Amino acid sequence: MTATDAEPTGARARQTYYWRVRNARTRHRPESSAHRWHIQPGHPGGAYSDLGHELEPPAHHAPTLLSRSRPKPRGHEQQFRGGCLTCAWEGPVYPGSGHGDGDNSAIEDAHDHAFPGWRELPPITRARDRRQTQRNLTRWTQLTSQYPLGWVDQGAPILVWSRHRREPHLPPHRGSPRYELRVDRPPTHRDKRATDQDSLF
Ligand SMILES: [Zn+2]
Repeated sequence: MTATDAEPTGARARQTYYWRVRNARTRHRPESSAHRWHIQPGHPGGAYSDLGHELEPPAHHAPTLLSRSRPKPRGHEQQFRGGCLTCAWEGPVYPGSGHGDGDNSAIEDAHDHAFPGWRELPPITRARDRRQTQRNLTRWTQLTSQYPLGWVDQGAPILVWSRHRREPHLPPHRGSPRYELRVDRPPTHRDKRATDQDSLF
């Protein structure tokens, strides 16, 4: 392998290298491109994302999701890790099936990198408020007034209570340039339901 063929690190560099492999610009088989780390389609900087594809990195850290497929004796294993569109930071690797399994943890790591302390942001607690809060200026101002200065403009996430276990996080898009992170309800809100369930058994 020549120096120029070495797999680089960092989300942007990996995405470029993935396309070089896929477009037969390297000595590797194009069919093997899925085994290279690349930005998960639909996530910032990745294929199918309508967030925008500016060539210049943003001035602040910007979370995204990397994925690859690894060959296994039987079939293959999907792996995920968090990435950043601004620097070469990459998070630990999580195997998982996606749809909230593996990808959620990687996305959360990327937010720890870009927005440390994001878990303390106020969550939207009702499912029907998810969209309305972003459309209603009063509600939006009320919610984001509790965000650290500058975070909203930098694409800090909105937090919503999950509707079910491992509800997948939603990537940003042009109409909503921030991740929607589905977080667990605090235990106090689950205690009653758990008790009700227990009484059935
Ligand atoms: Zn970064």
